[in-house]
Amino acid sequence: MSVLATYRSGVKAHGVRAIATLTRYYAARVFGLLTGPGRQCPLCQSSVREFRPFVEFQYGVVRNRATCPGCGSLERHRAYAHFYREFIAANFSPPIDILHAAPERSLEPVLRSFARRYDLTDYESPPPGHMQLDICDPKLPPQSYDLIVLNHVLMCVPDDRLAVRSLAALLRPGGAILAGESIFRGKSTTSRAEPGYGGRFNQYGDRDLAERFAPLQATIVDVAADVSPEDRTRFGLADHETLIVIRAADPASASAARA
Ligand SMILES: [Zn+2]
Repeated sequence: MSVLATYRSGVKAHGVRAIATLTRYYAARVFGLLTGPGRQCPLCQSSVREFRPFVEFQYGVVRNRATCPGCGSLERHRAYAHFYREFIAANFSPPIDILHAAPERSLEPVLRSFARRYDLTDYESPPPGHMQLDICDPKLPPQSYDLIVLNHVLMCVPDDRLAVRSLAALLRPGGAILAGESIFRGKSTTSRAEPGYGGRFNQYGDRDLAERFAPLQATIVDVAADVSPEDRTRFGLADHETLIVIRAADPASASAARA
């Protein structure tokens, strides 16, 4: 899409304030092309001068150095991929059976590389080959998967506790749910109606996260913590990127997870 067409569609969808947002986007993009230190995407291996900015029109936000032009990955996806590789190698004997909900295309190759069975599901408008599960009532046999991946999904689900219990019932013994979410430190979880987030926005806090999903065991992981500063710069990762690992309290049994 041409620059002019992008402005036209931006204004049509978001009003005149999109003009200022898009101007900041293009300014950041040109600045990155001129001054970027050189980045590499750990997902598609693209080497670029700088990752592209990412626009959130609703909030008028332009996030610099965010999107890989090769695969579309964002900062958090590049950090999750690093964690997935380490977590799967440490906890499973691949190939394993994986369910990926609201799948990010950039993450599919890394998950697929560990999978015997790799199922994808979208709640709205699933493309061909994807399932359309209600994660609060997935209607699948228990113990169908070793690993369930969903990012920035629980934050939009009105009854996220039910969703987690229902998904956990699909895990085999020793299985895990990996839920990428932003988590506030030193705060409790809040939940409010939010039109921009599918009707609900759960802002997770680390104070009550473990209780929220009990009796399942929920652990918060900073997935970028063990990445060297050099690689963090090279891969364009944020300083902190959080993910919730959810498993049965007794790893040998999935029975505690049944809804
Ligand atoms: Zn990439």
